[in-house]
Parts: sequence; C-alpha cells; structure tokens
Amino acid sequence: MAITSINPATGQVLRSFEPLSEGQIEAKLARAAETFRQYRHMPFAERAQRMRRAAEILETEKDRLGRLMTAEMGKPLKAAIAEAEKCAWACRYYAENAERFLADEDVPTNAARSYIHYQPLGPILAVMPWNFPFWQVFRFAAPALMAGNVGLLKHASNVPQCALAIEDIFRRAGFPDGAFQTLLIGTEQVPRVLDDPRVAAATLTGSEKAGSSVGAEAGKQIKKTVLELGGSDPFVVMPSADLEAAVKTAVQARVINNGQSCIAAKRFLIAEEVADEFERRFVQGMEALRIGDPMDIENDIGPLATEGILQTLDAQVQQTVASGARLLTGGKRLDRPGYYYAPTVLTDIPENSPAFGEELFGPVAALFRVRNADEAIRLANATSFGLGASVWTNDPAERSRFIDEIESGLVFINGMVASDPRLPFGGVKRSGYGRELGVFGIREFVNIKTIWIKEE
Ligand code: NAP
Repeated sequence: MAITSINPATGQVLRSFEPLSEGQIEAKLARAAETFRQYRHMPFAERAQRMRRAAEILETEKDRLGRLMTAEMGKPLKAAIAEAEKCAWACRYYAENAERFLADEDVPTNAARSYIHYQPLGPILAVMPWNFPFWQVFRFAAPALMAGNVGLLKHASNVPQCALAIEDIFRRAGFPDGAFQTLLIGTEQVPRVLDDPRVAAATLTGSEKAGSSVGAEAGKQIKKTVLELGGSDPFVVMPSADLEAAVKTAVQARVINNGQSCIAAKRFLIAEEVADEFERRFVQGMEALRIGDPMDIENDIGPLATEGILQTLDAQVQQTVASGARLLTGGKRLDRPGYYYAPTVLTDIPENSPAFGEELFGPVAALFRVRNADEAIRLANATSFGLGASVWTNDPAERSRFIDEIESGLVFINGMVASDPRLPFGGVKRSGYGRELGVFGIREFVNIKTIWIKEE
C-alpha cells in the first residue's frame, strides 16, 4: 500500500511515498543497532542538551509544524501549534528529570551494597497513530532517548510528512543519525521489524486490533510491549456539580481534535435532576461550534482525518438511530468537499447499539440519564475499555466512590481528561497496558538491573 498524505479538508493528494524496500529496512535496523552501542554511553547531560535543542526547534518552528499537521490530518491549526508546544514541554521535562528518574537506588540487604541500576534496552519500535501526529511520538521518544534507547518510528500511513519532520528535528537537535529513524513502511512490514533480534521492544498507540496484533507478534519473540489503545470514556455529571462549567468542558471534551482523541469524553452520564438542563445547554453548545477549514484560526472543528473514518462514524450513528436512539442534532456528513461531519448528539441509546459500547471517533456525543451514583458507576464501567473518566461532583463522599470504583487508568474530578508529562498516562481493560509519561513512562523501556556486591 502506498503511503499517502491526503488533505482531509479537500480530499487532495499532497504527497505519496513508496514503502521502504527490504534492503532499506535492513540498513536502518543495522544503523539503529550500531548507534545504540555508542549512544547508550552518552552521559545524561549530553543527551539533555540535545533534547533541549529539540524543544527549541519545536518552539521556533511551531507555526510551520502546526501547518504540516493540519494539512495532513485536519486538526484545527491552533491546536496543532499547541501540540508542537506540548512536545517541547515533554522534551524539557525529560531533559531535566531523566537522570534523577534513572539514578541508582540503594536497597539495604545482607550484601555490602545492593542497589537497582537502570539500563536502556536498545532499539524500540514505536507504531503510532495520526490523531496527535507529533505528541504521540514525542511522548514516547523524549523519555526513550533520554534513557539511552534509540527509536524506530512506524507512523500512520496518512501522516508520512509529519513522520519525516520529527526525524529531521532529532537530527538537527544533534542526536546521532541512527538515534531516531522513521521507517516508511506498511502494516504488513511491521512483523518483519518486530521479529528482528536487533529490535528490543515495541510500543503501539492505536486501535485494539492493531494493539492485539503487535502485542501477539512481540509476545512470540518474548519482547516487551506498551499498548495505548482506544477508549469510550465516561463524562459523569452529578447534581452537586457546577453545571455551567461541566457543560462548557463537556462540549470541548467531546470535540477536541475534531472528536478524534482516545481520551475524548464519549459517553455523557447525567444525573436525572440536572439532565434536562444539561441536555439543552449541551446541544446548544454543540450547535454553536464553527466548522470549516482547519487552517482558519476562527474554526473550532475541521474535517475527520480520512474518508474511512467518516464512513465508520456515520454507520455507527445510523445504526444507533435505527435501533431506537433519538438524534438531538447533527447525524450527517456536511454537504461540502472534505470529510466534515456535523457535531452530533444522541440520546435514549439502546444497550445493543454501537453508541452504547463502541468507540465513536468523531464529534458524536452519546447522552445517558442516571438515577444515582450507583447507576453512573455501573454505566461508566459497562464498556470493554478503561482509559480516562471525567467526573463532575462537589460531594466528597461521592468523589471517593468514583475514584475507587471506576475502572480506568485516569480519573479527573471536575476537569477534562488530559495528558501531562508529569503524570502517568495509560489504560486498563482493552484500553491497553503499560504507562507513558511521568517517572513510569521512562522506566517502561529499561532493564531494571539488580546489583548485589559482597565485599571480600
Ligand atoms: P490504527 O488503525 O490502529 O493505527 C495506529 C497505528 O497502527 C498506525 O501506524 C497503523 O498503521 C498501525 N497499524 C494498524 N494495524 C496494524 C497491524 N495489524 N499491525 C501493525 N501496525 C498496525 O488506529 P487509528 O484508527 O489510526 O487511531 C485511532 C485509534 O487509536 C483509536 O482507537 C484511539 O482511541 C486510539 N488512540 C489511543 C491513544 C492512547 O493513548 N490510548 C491515543 C491516541 C489514539 P497504518 O496507518 O499504516 O494502518
């Protein structure tokens, strides 16, 4: 399959690339292995100097990089520029903290000295999605490179120019050529790379299907994986919540990145006492959004990233309506070139319909009414996913119950679920395993080596 950039706002082909040949893949793997042998010995201070330089490039060139993201996958330009800035933040965070996170840790035993020593593993394959085409990559690459690993990126086939731009940033920042390489390859070439003995481990952010396939292949070779997969995250609003703030955040949480975020709120579980009011204001908020050319800074929502995503989303909406749900607004593709879908709100959603349990990857909200906290928790957990939950309540006892009982990797109280370099990020259940970011992220791809010394 060709690797092609298509502008989702127009449907125009921007650029096409031939996938790497077997000989080219071999050369890149050899370079990664060779670079790792040297790079693992580079002192933290020198790695940090390069990582800070990468942050500077991201900041200085954020407008150009933002435009590239928007052109390839359609996110609003303002968000794309903010994404470049967030990547710079992650680079700086690990430049400052990696050495401390990976310092030797003494553990008293009967030895003269025993301690934990962290070492890099080697070349790590990162299979990444297009929805945050820079952020997903940097949140892997900044800790991995600071730990002394080297990176091999297989990016999504619709964002090859972003993939090449990221490789270029690391090269210009002064990292050795083989420290971070983009592999323009199709999914069918992934097993060949994963099976290669020079590749030490893999991380994948994407769908369940892709995660399961990469996890299974890596498992055959006894290689570690981190999987960041889909979500059908609940957004719970209880009677004690600040309704105005909840509605405003709910709209934003659903349509962030044109609705294509793993941690976007997808199912809105609203207490009966406030449900009519929430519904009215939420529909109003969704209808007030400005949709259009994502390069226009005034627009809130751009197109979906591909025609395929639009088709899948529309089929889910139509099936949900056919099975008895009520459409409060939207529910159709916009009549204009590009892959635009109207912000949509569904309610009275039957249990057997797609909007009840499947991930809706686009600006489509599913509203549910709940009688009390018990029912909210039951519905929040009635999905195979478990990524992030946003809960709005000012009742301390209720808050503790949600924190304790919601099955997810993240719980945000009175706020929108978001990633932050300082905090671990990841899911449970079919949303995946392992953690990115924070101290846990940098310790995923290291050998936690036990050292035990008895004095003679
Ligand atoms: P996707 O189809 O799974 O693609 C993600 C990446 O996996 C792409 O690079 C893709 O390559 C590759 N891939 C697909 N099938 C593969 C296979 N069988 N073997 C090896 N690689 C394979 O996901 P998407 O639809 O682009 O992205 C959206 C999904 O990602 C959603 O479910 C979303 O929730 C999830 N996501 C999760 C997180 C998180 O942190 N938990 C963050 C963002 C997105 P090609 O492009 O060449 O197919």
